[in-house]
Amino acid sequence: MVGGRIGVMGGTFDPIHHGHLVAASEVAGLFGLDEVVFVPTGQPWQKTDRDVAPAEDRYLMTVIATASNPRFSVSRVDIDRGGPTYTIDTLTDLKVQRPDAELFFITGADALSQILSWRDSERCFSLAHFIGVTRPGFALADAHLPEGVVSLVEVPALSISSTDCRERVARGMPVWYLVPDGVVQYIEKRSLYRQGHPARRAGD
Ligand code: ATP
Ligand code: MG
Repeated sequence: MVGGRIGVMGGTFDPIHHGHLVAASEVAGLFGLDEVVFVPTGQPWQKTDRDVAPAEDRYLMTVIATASNPRFSVSRVDIDRGGPTYTIDTLTDLKVQRPDAELFFITGADALSQILSWRDSERCFSLAHFIGVTRPGFALADAHLPEGVVSLVEVPALSISSTDCRERVARGMPVWYLVPDGVVQYIEKRSLYRQGHPARRAGD
């Protein structure tokens, strides 16, 4: 497709979970999007406050999670650029790839409150429409955004975070039904998030 209305869902996706997928699907339905592109972030230069799983693992989990939806796709722009990801770079690169597309950047209530402090936020707003989605535990009203800059959308509440998923795996608790089945299996296959502990088995 040449032009089209394209959603852009950026995230660390460490791992991708059903909260991400429901948010993308809901916005696609409400805004009549032709496609939603999931964009896993690049690998941080140095250790930040925690270790982030390798970019290729996060990329593959995102591919696995989105593969069955014909309107979902995954872009490598942030991973291939490397280093910390700035939304202005993501949008600029996607716009080069799809000059005729109308971009809709989808972001959760937690990230919304920081949006004005983003690098080149004004230029971001000129490259894409911004859509803020609700997220359990984070109040949209607290974002203090200037009027007309961001459309706010209520999505079915799924109180799931990647942090919680990682902590569950580390404790040997299940993540079935929080993340897609293929992602559960990929996490196990690659021994992600175990922090050196062998997986706990039933009865241990
Ligand atoms: P972490 O706990 O590692 O920060 P996360 O669950 O917040 O992970 P991210 O990859 O940081 O996931 O989020 C990517 C985008 O998805 C952000 O805009 C975030 O606000 C949004 N998002 C994440 N989880 C949900 C959810 N359960 N409902 C709605 N939006 C969500
Ligand atoms: Mg987050």
